[in-house]
Amino acid sequence: MPHPSLSAVADLAARQLPDTLAQLDRYLAIPAISCDESHFADVRRLAAAIRDDLEALGLDGARVLELEGALPCVAAEWMRAGEDAPTVLIYGHLDLQPVERENWNTDPHVPTTIGDRLYARGSADDMGGWVSHMGAIRAWLEEGGELPCNVRLIIEGEEEIGSPNLERFMDAYPEAFEADVMVLTDCENPSPDVPGLTVSLRGLVEIELTCEALSADVHSGLWGGMVPDVSIALVRLISRLTDEDGRMKVGRVEVPEAWRAEAWRVPLDEPTIREGAHIVDGVAPLPHRDIPPAEWMWRQPSITVVATTLPTLANKKNALRRKASAILSIRLAPNQSAESMFAAVEQALTTEPPAGVKVSLAMAGWAGEGWLYEPKGPAFDAVDRAYEATWGERPVQVGVGGSIPFVALFGRRFGDLPLILNGVMDPRTTAHGPNESLHLGIFAKAVAANVHLLAELAALGKHGVKG
Ligand SMILES: [Zn+2]
Repeated sequence: MPHPSLSAVADLAARQLPDTLAQLDRYLAIPAISCDESHFADVRRLAAAIRDDLEALGLDGARVLELEGALPCVAAEWMRAGEDAPTVLIYGHLDLQPVERENWNTDPHVPTTIGDRLYARGSADDMGGWVSHMGAIRAWLEEGGELPCNVRLIIEGEEEIGSPNLERFMDAYPEAFEADVMVLTDCENPSPDVPGLTVSLRGLVEIELTCEALSADVHSGLWGGMVPDVSIALVRLISRLTDEDGRMKVGRVEVPEAWRAEAWRVPLDEPTIREGAHIVDGVAPLPHRDIPPAEWMWRQPSITVVATTLPTLANKKNALRRKASAILSIRLAPNQSAESMFAAVEQALTTEPPAGVKVSLAMAGWAGEGWLYEPKGPAFDAVDRAYEATWGERPVQVGVGGSIPFVALFGRRFGDLPLILNGVMDPRTTAHGPNESLHLGIFAKAVAANVHLLAELAALGKHGVKG
């Protein structure tokens, strides 16, 4: 058989879209929720179904990887393109977030198409992601019996619980992860028309702030006006960390001007923010102050009060309390350390505390690393060409405001390889929330972009792809 032509493969992938979506529907009907023991059997059932389908597709070595105490990963490969061809590893995850059924308009495990969107838990996070690669691989194999390069697939079963065993899988099955370039497909596009390439994550640190003034609660009618109220001191201390808009002002970082200029391309306008963040009428998003919203959400630290011991309605009494605490959850800029943020917060809050209360700070919960990546070199030029051919424009660089443990892990283990982070989510996906959905136009373009991406990466050769 002659080598299949790129346009013939792309045409076939487009004609097969209904079949590819039908396959996605079958997977979405399995509630593979990894945080819930009662669904572990579903995770395993789905893993077995995917393995069988990858084998039927013509991939080699389709297998379920197991480790003691872990939910499985599915692996498969096609390594027949020869030693001079690059090996592309494609990562996705098969497990799902739990669902609160009462908040869904449709059954979360019965895929339902309404307008241009497919509603189901996992439709975009992340089954649509790796199924879009399956659609591309299938078209290549059916059109000409071969892929243009070597391909490995890894589909994880524990991403939604923070990938606690993924590094153990990397250690136990190193050959399953061996590659020259990696495509990690679990990320978002800024809109159905603008593709995204994810290049940063924020880190996270939780700090417990405590104010203490008295050795016992005392009557406010007796002592009010003469002794400190720790609740007020706590609130005033927290407000020291923020500017007039309520944004974190301690620990802000410099962002390169070139990046900032590009960040205005990200279509995060007021209606998008309003809808995505469920802002009620009469309330506005924070003013951008001539800094792109993308920078505020992805490149600068932010603070959220996630717990307090302030008096509640249920335990209301006419007393000055002895002590008050809050847990401050601080998202870190991508290249900011938890230690440097802690030091900056401690300095700001322990200097001349309000009303002379005793202030103490401690690390609470976990601290997660961020990630900042510079997508440069031939592999990313290949990405630009694949997206220009299928979406009509190169992807815009985007970040993630939260942390994704598997990305930080791949960054640490394979940071010397090109890491291409793409996906099929968009701002209306509501991953992890109710009514999760996949935009069908994005899915079709993702399949086409994946067809092209394999050809573009193949053309660089095994050594050329690393730049
Ligand atoms: Zn995901």
